[in-house]
Amino acid sequence: MKIVVDRNLCIGAAPCVAIAGEVFELDTEGKAVVKNPKGADDETILLAARACPVRAILLYDEQTGKQIFPEAS
Ligand code: SF4
Repeated sequence: MKIVVDRNLCIGAAPCVAIAGEVFELDTEGKAVVKNPKGADDETILLAARACPVRAILLYDEQTGKQIFPEAS
């Protein structure tokens, strides 16, 4: 899973850190950064992305490059 955090969107609400603290951490600006993309299983990472109130977490399939979250509507 490739994880991207859109820093312009992130408001530091931090549910991503609460759900997947091995994957995300807040930097000195209070924005989420990916510290270890392999720090949780895909399901947990997806949960964290879903919990982000501003949808700042984007997930991509590593092999195909296809966007997994947010799902295209
Ligand atoms: S949940 Fe979203 S807004 Fe909150 S810190 Fe994580 S990426 Fe940023």
